Amino acid sequence: MVVLESCASYEYDAVKTAVKAIFDACGGIGKLVAPGTKVALKPNLVAKRKPEEAATTHPSVLRAVVELCVEAGGSVIVCESPGGVYDKAILKGLYKGTGIEEAALSAGAELNYELSVTKVDNPDGMYMKTLEILTPLAEADVVINLAKLKTHGMMVYTGAVKNMFGAIPGIGKAEYHFKMPDYASFANTVIDIFLSVKPAFSIIDGVVGMHKDGPTAGDPFEAGLLIGGDNAFETDRVALDLIGARTERVPMAKEAIARGLMPESIDAVELCGNIALADARKRLAGFVVKYNDDCSRLHFSDGFLGKIMSKMVKPKPVFTKKCRSCGECARLCPVKAITVEKGKRAKADLDKCIRCYCCQELCRFKAVKIKKSPVTKLAQKL
Ligand code: SF4
Ligand code: SF4
Repeated sequence: MVVLESCASYEYDAVKTAVKAIFDACGGIGKLVAPGTKVALKPNLVAKRKPEEAATTHPSVLRAVVELCVEAGGSVIVCESPGGVYDKAILKGLYKGTGIEEAALSAGAELNYELSVTKVDNPDGMYMKTLEILTPLAEADVVINLAKLKTHGMMVYTGAVKNMFGAIPGIGKAEYHFKMPDYASFANTVIDIFLSVKPAFSIIDGVVGMHKDGPTAGDPFEAGLLIGGDNAFETDRVALDLIGARTERVPMAKEAIARGLMPESIDAVELCGNIALADARKRLAGFVVKYNDDCSRLHFSDGFLGKIMSKMVKPKPVFTKKCRSCGECARLCPVKAITVEKGKRAKADLDKCIRCYCCQELCRFKAVKIKKSPVTKLAQKL
């Protein structure tokens, strides 16, 4: 069951009404939370960005979910591991800068500063049968996933399933990029991580989402929607339909469908809520999804030359004059492809670069653009 609720703004009463309606349509918050239940909330706090930048889950959405859980007798902890360094100072700045600190504390939740990880079994994983995730997620009775509706440079789309990549602490994420550089393997890794956490419920904040160069450098897109349900794959399937994305060009969706986790057609999803699918689609008209597989129809050999050609046609990161030489992207690039000299723009060694676009995601000055090569532009027309 996926619930579509219209919610025109982040005005708190409107958000709480919509969030409550989503839970109620799926049996009520009481189905998940009873007195004494330990609840972990996992918002999307990809980086320290203000709520109005639309890169992170809005504080009103988190506050509404905290309040409902507390009213049901649960204790709530909010946890997240953003891209980059994972320590207490970074978490403090992140919670404060995204408006989550005030929302969580005022509604009665605790913020996680515990940096440990816990090993969990993952019997349904494709690659990872065990893995280490943030301890509060491993110890919770119930995990509720509070995602954001956005585009993503590497994965094309990020919503409910991709949000659980934040269950991996700090630079551990870069290791996954390094070990799984091709998009299909990485998408399956993201799915494995999601399955290891198994959130009981997911809500995607699409009141104001992000399109074009998401997940942090795109433009806000006002859709006035919250999408929620007890199956994150179905919830993502609906969101993908709304933004007009072709699932065969979204790596996570393509792999999830192949694994039998995501329905191929939205017709297989039971829908309800206060807005009809057709009207919700109209709200998302104009949402720009940027694909990065324009050259997938050009088949290169697996040999040395083929690999070079294949890399040449993939969109590349370009460092614009907005670069302030802060060095953050060089520290976090999974393959150490970036060098930064004082006073000069960052540079990437494109032979080493695996096109993960973490540099674009993590640059707080929006200095990194993803540029398609002339061959790619030509292939788009084929
Ligand atoms: S691209 Fe961004 S993160 Fe990298 S050095 Fe320049 S300003 Fe810093
Ligand atoms: S240069 Fe950017 S896109 Fe390339 S591997 Fe490093 S972080 Fe990823």
